[in-house]
Amino acid sequence: MENISYTNSTEREEFSAIIETPPFQDIFYEKTADAYRDAVDQAKELVMSFLENQQKPFSGITPAELGAQFKQIKFDTPLNSYDEMFAEVKELYVDHATAFHLPSYIAHLNCPVVIPALAAEVLISAINSSQDTWDQSAGGTLMERRLIDWTAEQIGFGPEADGVFTGGGSQSNLMGLLLARDYFALDRLGHNIKLDGNPAEYAKFRIFVSDKSHFSNQKNASLMGLGERSIIQVKTDSRFRMDIDALELAIQKELESGNIPIAIIATAGTTDFGNVDPLNKIGFLAEKHKLWMHVDAAYGCGLLLTDKHKYLLNGIELAHSVTIDYHKSFFQPISSSAFIVRDKKLLEIIRHHADYLNPKEENYEAYPAQINKSITQSTRRFDALKLWFTLRLMGREKLGEYIDTVIATAKEAASVIKADPMLELLSDSDISILVFRYKSIGVSPGNVCALNEFIKKKMFHTGEVLVASTKVDGNYYLKFTILNPLTTLQDIHKILNLIKTYGAAYLNN
Ligand SMILES: *Cc1c(COP(=O)(O)O)cnc(C)c1O
Repeated sequence: MENISYTNSTEREEFSAIIETPPFQDIFYEKTADAYRDAVDQAKELVMSFLENQQKPFSGITPAELGAQFKQIKFDTPLNSYDEMFAEVKELYVDHATAFHLPSYIAHLNCPVVIPALAAEVLISAINSSQDTWDQSAGGTLMERRLIDWTAEQIGFGPEADGVFTGGGSQSNLMGLLLARDYFALDRLGHNIKLDGNPAEYAKFRIFVSDKSHFSNQKNASLMGLGERSIIQVKTDSRFRMDIDALELAIQKELESGNIPIAIIATAGTTDFGNVDPLNKIGFLAEKHKLWMHVDAAYGCGLLLTDKHKYLLNGIELAHSVTIDYHKSFFQPISSSAFIVRDKKLLEIIRHHADYLNPKEENYEAYPAQINKSITQSTRRFDALKLWFTLRLMGREKLGEYIDTVIATAKEAASVIKADPMLELLSDSDISILVFRYKSIGVSPGNVCALNEFIKKKMFHTGEVLVASTKVDGNYYLKFTILNPLTTLQDIHKILNLIKTYGAAYLNN
């Protein structure tokens, strides 16, 4: 078939009028440009209807109700048109999707997203670069590297820092723990884990985290063959941050038992309380005991954006490696995360060469390949483009103002809860998570848990407000995660009033 090149859009329109149906009409290529535009326009319309119609964060539908509708779906008989497909997806998904952008969604670490990042998503999926080698991404690789450098700079790392975008904080934490273990074995035991597997001493390896650290650390230890028991949970202080004396004691105790400490994982922004472990002191102890220091800043990374609150991360620059989740507090759509190391040499240990992809003899200074820094992904989305759009259009300062707003709202909300005799706040938050419960005088401790569980379930089933819950010392608490700059103190009052209404209803029953 003849190759036709278009010179302008009028010619293109004339051309597509002549050829009614291009061959392979569902493949995205130059002859299906119109079909692509129509399909994406319709998708956009559905998103618009989501914004217009979603008044509550959740419809309240049950898995049984929604599941019943799925029984009728037969993949053997495809639908006839996009119209039918979008109508079906609306019913099965969009109408019941959780709306993170509403202030009445105050449950988990899901931020509302910024528009530049959404525009970037359109390019990411259509152009579909793969961020593994230069020949699959070109400018994409350079953009990712610039954003890694920028993030490293915010952390306070020097020019030797490096890193890679990952699918999420759990993956980034895995990279931190894996590098910690492999370096320890190579450096101190002369053992190459990448080649030979865990050394004989592996059952004695110990990693220190706080008892409020993220569960991905346990999962990662298990995945690496160290077992969950290799993770020592150090007790926390009155504000649920790692207790530094307890850490020192725990390290001593493990040493005395003949075990081998290899790493400390500090949490900058705990999932339950939004508090930051004492990073400077942890850095000092890590140095003293020659341990790898990883900082899990999956949530706390947002503090990097604000000069007003950045001090909360003082000491993060002492880390060997850091987890950043842009999809937690940089207002980025899922997924967008990074793993950053203080020194690019630290990443070399994971490099694996495949002749067909990243052969050993290639000059990676001249032809950079992010695959050399990735352990859990080969083909990898160009998520970095979202952050690129965001920073180029909005800039750090504006994003930082959003974080400042969220922190201010959380502080005000904390005061309101503290001042209310019917509510009990468990801890202040460095960032924006509040753990509290409804507490009526004369209710037995066991009943307080049941009461708060009732409140949460009631709100979830009506879908009017989504809050989270957690357990502290076996007791049930409600949890606010405030990540939306749109959330006002008025919204907080409304939600608290609803909580009290349901609490009173429970007691009157
Ligand atoms: C959310 C979270 C993680 C896990 O990140 P994902 O992106 O969900 O994999 C790790 N650590 C902390 C402190 C978190 O809050």
